[in-house]
Amino acid sequence: MAEFTMELNDEQKEVRDWIHGFAADVIRPAAAEWDEREETPWPVIQEAAKVGIYSLDFYAQQYFDPTGLGIPMAMEELFWGDAGIALSIVGTGLAAVGVLANGTEQQIGTWIPQMYGDANDVKVAAFCSSEPDAGSDVASMRTRAVYDEAKDEWVLNGTKTWATNGGIANVHVVVAVVDAELGSKGHASFIVPPGTEGLSQGQKFKKHGIRASHTAEVILDNVRVPGSCLLGGKEKLDERLARAREKARQGGERVKNAAMATFEASRPAVGAMAVGTARAAYEVALDYAKTREQFGRPIIDNQGVAFQLADMRTSIDAARLLVWRASWMAVNGRPFTAAEGSMSKLFASETAKKVTAQAIQILGGNGYTREYPVERMHRDAAIYTIFEGTSEIQRLVIARTLAGVPIR
Ligand SMILES: Cc1cc2nc3c(=O)[nH]c(=O)nc-3n(C[C@H](O)[C@H](O)[C@H](O)COP(=O)(O)OP(=O)(O)OC[C@H]3O[C@@H](n4cnc5c(N)ncnc54)[C@H](O)[C@@H]3O)c2cc1C
Repeated sequence: MAEFTMELNDEQKEVRDWIHGFAADVIRPAAAEWDEREETPWPVIQEAAKVGIYSLDFYAQQYFDPTGLGIPMAMEELFWGDAGIALSIVGTGLAAVGVLANGTEQQIGTWIPQMYGDANDVKVAAFCSSEPDAGSDVASMRTRAVYDEAKDEWVLNGTKTWATNGGIANVHVVVAVVDAELGSKGHASFIVPPGTEGLSQGQKFKKHGIRASHTAEVILDNVRVPGSCLLGGKEKLDERLARAREKARQGGERVKNAAMATFEASRPAVGAMAVGTARAAYEVALDYAKTREQFGRPIIDNQGVAFQLADMRTSIDAARLLVWRASWMAVNGRPFTAAEGSMSKLFASETAKKVTAQAIQILGGNGYTREYPVERMHRDAAIYTIFEGTSEIQRLVIARTLAGVPIR
């Protein structure tokens, strides 16, 4: 097990500087344009593919960094560049992780390359879990997957919503109910291969922030996928369902808590995205406060402004520490006895919302216009307290973990 450290090693610093360079030179200059266009920034994704930032190899390398700092460091730098574009770059990773976590070696080898495409023909992937009536309450999912034994095919029907890259993805990973009695333990994940009949994009959402990232409904109308598209395979699913039924009979507590551990491990990555956006806004505000003069002196000479900056920086550093701790715990298999993953996501996302609002205040009228990036950063920051579990859900998870009450 790697010791917890707050010091990046030389190799990590090199990677961080490389990603930061890409964020500063390629992502940030494109941010305002793609925010206005509200379209997927394909040329930027292609650039990221060319330099190796848009690839499974890149994420795998960061993911398996034993210090746990690889992923948070990469996320912070990319989202420092711009949240909407960065989400377009890392969105495929959400679907890829779904396959890595549950898929067989063959499924991983077949589908993940098709999710990314290559630098000359980049593709994206989508992870589709949320539904109109199943957001925070995942257990009330309605999309059904029914096995057609004669044809060894699964038939998927339902409507997914809020899917990042939904409908424009080459490969969709869809979560569906296979046993309604078991709540979220009766769900399974399926690959929907490129061009499968019956899958279509519904409404594309016009959003408040992260507008360069495509978010849409995905309609599944008698979508037939081969048996080989069930992630993990049928045998494993049958075993898992049998175990879940048995545990449900015994009270179900251990089953639910095991499921929550997965979220604890993935939430710090979202916390790191929020740290990136918060840091970006703080830096703009700090620069501005040092150079903007009113009443014959820089506005930072007023305690009212300087103290805000002090609070902003303190919160950002505290958020990063929580994120790094949880990431280290996840990589090293430490038990999340106080829901430390949820804690990191909660604090970092609330920090991003607050710090970006403070940045607007420090920039005054300029902060409120699109001439300066902080209003975009503030719009972007609002997503962190919503996706991957809202702030209320994080608090619920932390509180129930502390109380020793099962998390449903
Ligand atoms: C831009 C964007 C991208 C997304 N990308 C994806 C994606 O790629 N794939 C995917 O599957 N999903 C995605 N989502 C969905 C996202 O995860 C959900 O929006 C989120 O889980 C919240 O669900 P909801 O919107 O239905 O809100 P609801 O669950 O309806 O919640 C509404 C409000 O009620 C509160 N609330 C609900 N239950 C409780 C409770 N028990 N106690 C206290 N408060 C409660 C919530 O905190 C929230 O404030 C995305 C969403 C957005 C906006």
